[in-house]
Amino acid sequence: MGTIQLPEETQKKLDEIVGENILLTTVDKISNWARYSAIWPFTFGLACCAIEMMTVGSPRYDLDRFGAGVFRASPRQADLMIVAGTVTLKMGERLARLYHQMPEPRYVISMGSCATHGGPYWQHGYHVLKGVDRVVPVDVYVPGCPPRPEALIEGILLLQKKIRKDSITRASLKRWFPAKSQTGQVSA
Ligand code: SF4
Repeated sequence: MGTIQLPEETQKKLDEIVGENILLTTVDKISNWARYSAIWPFTFGLACCAIEMMTVGSPRYDLDRFGAGVFRASPRQADLMIVAGTVTLKMGERLARLYHQMPEPRYVISMGSCATHGGPYWQHGYHVLKGVDRVVPVDVYVPGCPPRPEALIEGILLLQKKIRKDSITRASLKRWFPAKSQTGQVSA
C-alpha cells in the first residue's frame, strides 16, 4: 500500500495547523472535561457524617487529587452539594433554598443513611426528612452510617463519570425540580 501524496499547498497548510498544536474535539467533551475536573463542593455538614466529609479534605485523603477539594461556604460559588448528615424538616426547607441558589449545572451527593432515607430516624423521627431526594434531585447516593472517607471519594468519582456522559444540550432538560422544593414546603 502506497503513501497518499497530498498536493503541496494542502500539505503546507496541514503542517501549519499541526505546528500550531490544534486540538480537535467536541464541545461536550471539552465542557464535561472542565466540569468534572473542577468540582467545587458546597460545605453542608449537618451531623456526624460531616466529620467524614471533612476528613476527605485532609492530607491523608487529599480530595484535591481529583480536582474536587475547593470547599466553598457560599452556594453561589459551588456546583456540588454534599448533604452529610441528618436533614430535619426545618433544615430541609433551607437546604432546598440554598440548592436553588447554586449555579447550573449543579449536582447533589446524598452522604450516609440519614440523608438518603432518614437513617436511624426513619420510623419514629417525626422531625426528620425521609430522604433528601424529596426536596432536591440527587445524583449519587453514598451508603453507610457513617460512610468512610473512601466511600465519599468513590461517590465523587462516580459523579465525575456521570458528568463525562453529559451533554450541554441535554443537561438542563435532564434536571427536575420537585414542586414542593420550589415552594419551600417539605414533609416527612
Ligand atoms: S448516617 Fe449515621 S453517621 Fe451519618 S449523620 Fe446519620 S446517624 Fe450520623
